[in-house]
Amino acid sequence: MLDLDSNIQFIKGVGEKRAKLFNSLGIFDVDSLIHFYPRKYEDWTANKTVQDVNDGDTVCIKATLIIPVKEAMIRRGLTLFKCRFSDGENVIAVTIFNNKYLAKSLKVYEDYFLYGKIDKSFLTASMSSPKIEKAENVLAIQPVYPAKEKLTSRAISKVMKTALDEISQIPETLSDEIRQKYGLISLDKAIRDIHFPNSADDYLPARKRLIFEELLTLQLGLLKLKSNKKCETSLRITKDYSKEFETFLPFTLTNAQKRTIGECVADMESKFPCNRLVQGDVGSGKTAVAASLIYTVIKNGYQAAMMAPTEILATQHFESLTKMFSKTDLKIALLTGSTPAKEKREIKNALFNNEIDLLIGTHALIQNDVEFRNLALVITDEQHRFGVNQRATLAQKGQHVHTIVMSATPIPRTLGLILYGDLDISILDELPPGRQTVRTDVVDSRYHKRLFKFIKDAIARGEQCYIVCPAVEENETNIKSAEEFAEELANGEFKGYNLGILHGKMKAKDKEAIMKSFADGKVSILVATTVVEVGVDVPNATIMVIENAERFGLSTLHQLRGRVGRGNKQSYCVLVSDTKGEASRERLMTMKQFSDGFKIADTDLKLRGPGDFFGSRQHGLPELKIADMVEDMDTLQKAQECAKDILKSDFSLSNSPALKTQMNKMFEKTVN
Ligand code: ADP
Ligand code: MG
Repeated sequence: MLDLDSNIQFIKGVGEKRAKLFNSLGIFDVDSLIHFYPRKYEDWTANKTVQDVNDGDTVCIKATLIIPVKEAMIRRGLTLFKCRFSDGENVIAVTIFNNKYLAKSLKVYEDYFLYGKIDKSFLTASMSSPKIEKAENVLAIQPVYPAKEKLTSRAISKVMKTALDEISQIPETLSDEIRQKYGLISLDKAIRDIHFPNSADDYLPARKRLIFEELLTLQLGLLKLKSNKKCETSLRITKDYSKEFETFLPFTLTNAQKRTIGECVADMESKFPCNRLVQGDVGSGKTAVAASLIYTVIKNGYQAAMMAPTEILATQHFESLTKMFSKTDLKIALLTGSTPAKEKREIKNALFNNEIDLLIGTHALIQNDVEFRNLALVITDEQHRFGVNQRATLAQKGQHVHTIVMSATPIPRTLGLILYGDLDISILDELPPGRQTVRTDVVDSRYHKRLFKFIKDAIARGEQCYIVCPAVEENETNIKSAEEFAEELANGEFKGYNLGILHGKMKAKDKEAIMKSFADGKVSILVATTVVEVGVDVPNATIMVIENAERFGLSTLHQLRGRVGRGNKQSYCVLVSDTKGEASRERLMTMKQFSDGFKIADTDLKLRGPGDFFGSRQHGLPELKIADMVEDMDTLQKAQECAKDILKSDFSLSNSPALKTQMNKMFEKTVN
């Protein structure tokens, strides 16, 4: 017998090695296993013959092997097996590549199910490397799990079956009352049906139940976070210094910036802590808003902290704020993962002795041993990169401190209200004057020659250029990595030019050095992976070239484009892509059509595609296993209502221990 908390290793068929593979999927015990849901299902009903299906369809056909399998060696390392099956009327020619084990197991005159794409022409039908199963042991609806190379979906499915057979009834987490009100089946049935539904309709009620439960858990966590923030604070601001701050700036603030600053200051003057999301499209000037609020807080006698998602960005904030505050006596320090240990110690001491007013940094700021004496304000920039938990941890560093999160990710308002239910929202809906829209074009790689000439002209005018390449997986040979492309350009087209390279695998110090040379204008062309994506501000850069643009989500493309058009010179974004895929082309054309992030987000919503505006990576919420924020918006609303009801009568969740455990699990695992 197995329990929900039995180690995965104790399931039949899972040894030490396999257990490790399961671990890498986040599966450690039976409980996490049964909550590892299928990505989709394959219909193996096999009630059709070759006659009934069309060329190119994915089909499942029951057929008999009619002659012994023939082996043919194509070349070293590639063996091909030719098989002939018959469905009773038509012959299906099947080829199997390199899978000797499978080929040898097939027996003449036995029945099999063939699952895969079929090629049909006038006279013949054939399938290349279909999945083949013995007819007697096939499930009609087969779950397909997000698998790994060494841990196939089929293997996961087998282990799942064993586990489900061996556990007793899965304890119910929701009260009968809730289940009735929202029309939900039992957890036990839902879990069993989501893995092994008897029919294609079976998994729908299962999905409904599990989606509801997941969103309910999420809402419970968020509502609890929110209520934690409702406590009164002693860190009240008594004087607004934003007018004084404006005199440090070389420009005047936009009305949207002034309004947002006003809203935040008003929050901090009240007796409750400020909890505000400042949403502004790329380039709307969020940094100046942050700086103004930091100034007011410090002048009121407190400390402030600002957290950025990357070292590059933290460093850049440190530099620009140091410059903005150069006429003041504010003491500012930078703390990141690569700050030397000795300096770190000094900073921590100074912080505790109140000798530092403003600490800027990466998530190193939320480590346990960083102690403030007098912290009143925490600003997190580009907050979508941070988890809800990280936000919460930093807020706990002071007594009910004011928190402001800044984000360039446009989220439709309805969704925002649910996701950020714990925050008030200010929107920077105005760009600083003199900005020109970035001219965007979609071209294919034949255009490179002209593009390079265009870049050279810009450099001759003293401007700079980014070239961004997608991250390349190890086994991909068809696209160029940033390193390869940079080398090719440095030795060819751009020989003699100052070309820099920036990619994820570089040491933080080297990245910073390159970024600094680019910011200082010493490097004219920066070839990079998406590490330049967030926040980087080099107003003299006017061209953003994105190679293999189809590889990027709309949100990333929008962020990348936001790196240019930051000064008053006309800027350009060139999306290079040879893709013929219609959906990809449509996404790229969206970029050409719109410059407003909210419009792009809406289109993304419609096109859906990779939909990365709403991936959990973007909003920093815990990763969801089965629910989808957008598609399940209705359920999200219901779950919120249900969570409110539960908390009203039982705030500590002492009557729902299972839900409480689940909530704690979900919020612990938040990754950024
Ligand atoms: P984001 O909102 O994307 O973080 P930044 O804060 O980096 O934008 O600001 C983008 C650029 O606009 C910076 O170079 C900044 O100095 C400039 N800027 C900000 N506010 C104004 C303003 N009111 N008028 C003119 N330029 C501004
Ligand atoms: Mg910014």
